[in-house]
Amino acid sequence: MKYNHLFGPVPSRRLGISLGVDLVPHKVCSLNCIYCEVGKTTNLTIERKEYIPLNDILSELKSYLDNDPELDYITFSGAGEPLLHNGIGKVITFIKENYPQYKLALLTNSTLLYDENVRKEISEIDLLLPSLDAVSEKVFKKLNRPNSKLDNNKIVEGLIRFSKDFSGKIWLEVFIVPGLNDTIEELELLKTVIEDISPDQVQLNTLDRPGTENWIHPVTKNRMEEIAELLKPLPVEIIAKFQSRNKIRSYHKDVEQQIIETIKRRPCTDKDLSEMLGIHINEINKYLSELLHEGSVTFHQQERGLFFRAK
Ligand code: SF4
Repeated sequence: MKYNHLFGPVPSRRLGISLGVDLVPHKVCSLNCIYCEVGKTTNLTIERKEYIPLNDILSELKSYLDNDPELDYITFSGAGEPLLHNGIGKVITFIKENYPQYKLALLTNSTLLYDENVRKEISEIDLLLPSLDAVSEKVFKKLNRPNSKLDNNKIVEGLIRFSKDFSGKIWLEVFIVPGLNDTIEELELLKTVIEDISPDQVQLNTLDRPGTENWIHPVTKNRMEEIAELLKPLPVEIIAKFQSRNKIRSYHKDVEQQIIETIKRRPCTDKDLSEMLGIHINEINKYLSELLHEGSVTFHQQERGLFFRAK
């Protein structure tokens, strides 16, 4: 079966072996974050609807999961905001009823958690990875460039409410953009709100590959450590990988090109690519997942693993 809405499984820094489920097409989102690594939002919306036919998603999941793959998580993520799909609750119930051995994770930008129905629909997941980059409306607008109907107070309130009733784990991500949300005022606001959410982990991130706007820079390692100190005693972890921007950009293009050229000639697994190009498999996977999202690469499963080829 050709999978259009499942991707991976890819080894992920945070989730181990994770099968991605993409519930909205590129790039339907309620935000248009300046740092977004999957490109500009083309449909900036808060309308929840069946962006992808629910039955297509369920058939793909059935076909894939009937083979009993080894996975650490099935993760709702992808190139947009998964909660915009109004069938997410049904997808969660389908997996929990038919494949209860798998844990479910959801990456969300938190913007729809103000809606009680949304909170109910996702209450059965095991791990929520919400983002919250700003508390003040001013920074929220500059950094996350939301749909005009969104109100950050309501978003924060929704996140706090969800956290009170939720029995799974919450790893909250804060993406730091220097000059925007790394001021003392914004960090103090964030700290107060995060204390109310009381997540199991607070994960600090910054740019590690080009974002939507090329004027954004990553924070330095030292500054990130200062921010982590400021947020303590919250359970803070720095998940950003620190590389210089120039290095990322040139390296990015070279590696991307090498991968495309290689898989144009013949389909390869990530391990093949890693051996042929002499690049760590984790790095290869980072590029492959980006190329998959862009749609320039596709994959199929064979006995030896997933084979990637250029479209
Ligand atoms: S919420 Fe996520 S997908 Fe949407 S624009 Fe921001 S970073 Fe990109």
